[in-house]
Amino acid sequence: MLDYDLHCHSTVSDGTLSPADLVAYAASRGVKVLSLTDHDDLDGLPEARAAAQAVGIQFIDGVEISVSWREDVTVHIVGLNINPEFVPLAQGLRDARQGRVARAHRMAESLAAAGIGGAFEGAMRYVGNPEFIGRTHFARFLVEGGHAKDIASVFKRFLVKGKPGYVEHEWITLSEAVGWIFGSGGVAVLAHPGRYTSGRKPLGRQSMHALMQAFADLGGVGIEVVSGSHTPQQCADAARYAQEFGFLASCGSDFHGPGESYRDMGHLPDFPAGCRPVWEAWDAPAAVVNG
Ligand code: AMP
Ligand code: MN
Ligand code: MN
Ligand code: MN
Repeated sequence: MLDYDLHCHSTVSDGTLSPADLVAYAASRGVKVLSLTDHDDLDGLPEARAAAQAVGIQFIDGVEISVSWREDVTVHIVGLNINPEFVPLAQGLRDARQGRVARAHRMAESLAAAGIGGAFEGAMRYVGNPEFIGRTHFARFLVEGGHAKDIASVFKRFLVKGKPGYVEHEWITLSEAVGWIFGSGGVAVLAHPGRYTSGRKPLGRQSMHALMQAFADLGGVGIEVVSGSHTPQQCADAARYAQEFGFLASCGSDFHGPGESYRDMGHLPDFPAGCRPVWEAWDAPAAVVNG
């Protein structure tokens, strides 16, 4: 079992626990090294770092950046061991977040056209940070209204391509995300590679290869092998990609809150044989050859 958890969310993005509560929860789950990786926002890091210090957990500053790649693929890049004071990163994310409120209004219009009114205000009641509204907040509103039984069911019938509540959105480029992370001294990690889609289909093998090659060429050095949202097969595939591209392996629950996550925090399964852990990048930087 791994006592590292390098991917989770607080109320600063779409989690349900405050940064301090999240750290306390991680400690109760036996996590020894934690990274908070809120979507497109660094504001939870000081509170989480202080809470981690108080309970004796090693804390790694993190972020999960939303990226648009090719025509219609949304990709998530996790930055680990970043410097949150690095101006291009902090300012770039601030600019990137701006589009979320307008997007949310368009999502609400799409839901209204499908007969579900009041979605913007309804979703806003779940928002913990006025700068960050996302699909998860709408998902909570839809569950509350009885339109789906849980969050996972929402994402089958709403908020995904071709369904009510989905709108196209242009996120930042792969080059910007990896560049800012790298520039801040951090390690760029391709999040949950098993989850990417084009249209409503999983990304094919060729596109996955092109994505990973582009990511590596830009300075990406890691890939999530163990993810709370991966099946055992997706974990094995990611380990193979890690070997093929020389990526370091990362692990994280992608926890969003008790009762609504893919997986609870901590107690993550070990990496498959042959994986080099991403923490080599900050524990023994000289051992990291590419990037
Ligand atoms: P956004 O960045 O606003 O597009 O929201 C993306 C977030 O929606 C992800 O980070 C997840 O928290 C959530 N999400 C997307 N797909 C699913 C799914 N199938 N099940 C549960 N949550 C999902
Ligand atoms: Mn999320
Ligand atoms: Mn993600
Ligand atoms: Mn995540």
